[in-house]
Order: sequence, then structure tokens, then C-alpha cells
Amino acid sequence: MKLVTAIHEGRTLTGLWQPARMLDLAAAGRRANEAADLSSMLAIVRGGSGALAALRRLQERGDDFPEAWIDASQVQLLAPIPNPVRNVFCVGRNYLDHVREGYAAKGQEAKLPTVPQFFTKATRAVNSPHGDVRLDPQLTRLLDYEVELAVIIGTGGRDIPSEQAFEHVFGYTVANDFTARDLQRRHEQWFKGKSLDTSCPLGPCIVDRDEIGDPRTLELSLTVNGEPRQHARVAQMIFDIPAIIASLSAGLTLEPGDIIATGTPAGVGFAMNPPQALKGGDLVVSVIDRIGELRNRIVEV
Ligand code: MN
Repeated sequence: MKLVTAIHEGRTLTGLWQPARMLDLAAAGRRANEAADLSSMLAIVRGGSGALAALRRLQERGDDFPEAWIDASQVQLLAPIPNPVRNVFCVGRNYLDHVREGYAAKGQEAKLPTVPQFFTKATRAVNSPHGDVRLDPQLTRLLDYEVELAVIIGTGGRDIPSEQAFEHVFGYTVANDFTARDLQRRHEQWFKGKSLDTSCPLGPCIVDRDEIGDPRTLELSLTVNGEPRQHARVAQMIFDIPAIIASLSAGLTLEPGDIIATGTPAGVGFAMNPPQALKGGDLVVSVIDRIGELRNRIVEV
């Protein structure tokens, strides 16, 4: 099941996405007398198993509601959760080859992390899947990309054991953790260089946990102006999704709708020889098979 948030005729809708069309879930739910609140992605996530069951019934009966389908060309996709309640959680240095390239670029020997390295991106960084990414040359000369698998938390919880972690996952989406490398270094804490407005495109949809099955089989890739830069399998993560959820939730309550970006593989611009920074006009395409792609234009401001 692919779930989207989209604008249609000035209204923000939650939809079930199919090739070339979208089912307006709130409209279909009213026609089917579903009790669950399907009016926003956060409402659906908070609705738990009841909301998921309603979605499955509407998916089955979709053709009973012809007036609730909207042609895909008539909608503009937003991030699946366009206004998260709190910051996007992120994991740094979670793919071996990316850890190695980072140290190599600094001429240092690689040290592997022994625990996940967490940081966050500010809520206003969240951007739509086809949104422009701001590049202010007065502020940064080293804007870089990072394609990542993002996990959407369903059922919240604290001290979640790794063997129960997937029970707390609602679904998955594609993220790009755009990073101003010079700000990341200058401010020492990563937050500033990772939190500029528009620097966290998400989408194009959330695919529910059951449809993905084992996320280790997913492949991520990224191109800049069509040139391949990143390609890896989720199975190559140093800390897998259960380990990340167990570690992050230790003494820290995760809530429905929390977003966790799980780290980027090798191939980022700063580690290339010579290092490459994004320029105005560049098109960055981030893909995860079975989820979809982000297409983001870099726009100088
Ligand atoms: Mn990252």
C-alpha cells in the first residue's frame, strides 16, 4: 500500500496511490462509513491497527467509489508527513563504505562506530518529493546530498527491544539528508549544517511495513544530473533497523509519526576526488526500489 499526502484544488488530502491515480481516503472513508480518522497521515498513523484495517478495506473496495479517485496529474505531492510534530531523527555513519570514505577524505584511518550516532534535522527542513532545495552561496559553498531509507514509527514506545522493533514500524519512505558540509564542520555539532530549510525532501509515498517485508532487500541509489553517485543495499547498514530503534528508544519515548533517517551509503560529493559540491540547477534524483523516487532541483537564492 502506497500512501501519499497531496494538494488537490487547494486542499491537502491523504491518498492511496496507484499508477496514474489517487484515492482520496477521507472521501472514500465517508462513503464507506469507516469510523477511523483518515484525514491526515498523522491521524492514520495514530489510528493504529484500526486505521490500517480501514485502509485495507478501502483498497479492496476502491472501485466502489469512482468519485473519490483523482487523476495523478491533478495533484501535487507533499512530503507524506509535511509537518512533523518534532525533528527528524537521523543516524550518521551507518554504512561501512561511507564511514571509510569520510575518514579517507580527511586522510585519517577509519574508526568504526560502536553505537549508532544520532542527530536531528529541524522540522522546517522537511520538503516535498519534487521540491526545490535552496542553495544560498553566502551561507554555504559545500552543499551535499545523502540518499537514505527513512522509517516511520507507528506504535510509540520506550525501551523497545530489538526483537520487537518491527512491531513499532508503520512504514518506509525515501529521504535525502541534504547537508551543508562547511556549516556541519564550522559549528562542530551537525545540527546547523543539516537543518537548513528544504534540506530534507521526503516521499514520494509511505509504503506500509507488511508490503515491504524485509527492508534489507531494498536498494538505494542517487544520481546528480543523471550521473550515478550512490548505490547500495539496505543490508549493508552497520546498525540495522531493529538495532537503531532499540538504541534510540532506550529511555527516550518514540511517538507515532516519528521519522528516523537511517544513514547514507558511500558516494557523497565531499568524499569524491576532487570533492564535488552541488550547484544551482543540479537535479538530484534519490531512488529506493519498491518505494519510489525524489527529484529535487538545487536552486540558488
Ligand atoms: Mn545522513
